[in-house]
Amino acid sequence: MKKYLGVILAATVTLTACGEKSEGEKTSKKESAIHTEQISKQKHQIKKENGVTKIDNLILVNKKVPISKSYNKGEDAVARTQLNKMIEDGRKHGLNILYRSGFRSYAEQTQLYNSYVQRDGKAAADKYSAAPGTSEHQTGLAFDVGTNPSNADFKEAFGQTREGKWLADNAYKYGFILRYPKGKEKITGYQYEPWHFRYVGKKDAKKIHAQKLTLEEYLDYGYKK
Ligand SMILES: [Zn+2]
Repeated sequence: MKKYLGVILAATVTLTACGEKSEGEKTSKKESAIHTEQISKQKHQIKKENGVTKIDNLILVNKKVPISKSYNKGEDAVARTQLNKMIEDGRKHGLNILYRSGFRSYAEQTQLYNSYVQRDGKAAADKYSAAPGTSEHQTGLAFDVGTNPSNADFKEAFGQTREGKWLADNAYKYGFILRYPKGKEKITGYQYEPWHFRYVGKKDAKKIHAQKLTLEEYLDYGYKK
């Protein structure tokens, strides 16, 4: 059995590494589904696929669970549509929510991170910026928003704006979660970021919001308990 799994792994790695779509891809996906781990009394299913970790089919990226340099799918279309819907509905409530940033490739994250390290030093930069390969923005499922005037943008104060408050209360209805909540810094590895929203889909967002959990806690993965 061990030998058999080794063969499956080798086949998966070869197909992934060449990056071409082939007839074998379907089989390879099926095989990688067989090769899953079970943790926490077999509650969650963990899969490593195309350079990302999926737990119960939700992508998780953080400082402990990196994303591969080659994962470069761009912005997720469904997530962006839902973001636009959320911004539009905000407008109906008299709010001015503005898109600030979304998908960032590994190369762009490298450039950004390095510029922060140069400016503030590594220790400080690590608190608010992700080292290359650990940014959720690379998944295409995360967005930063702001408002006008922009003086609270990318600051804790954004959480106190009307826009920030409405988003914290309503983002789940569009399938988003406030990814880095206040008081959960040790779990997420990031300071409170009231401007950063991650798309997980409506079903999971509703549960995460209702239970006041981080993605790490919800998936029971990728953090120190
Ligand atoms: Zn962000």
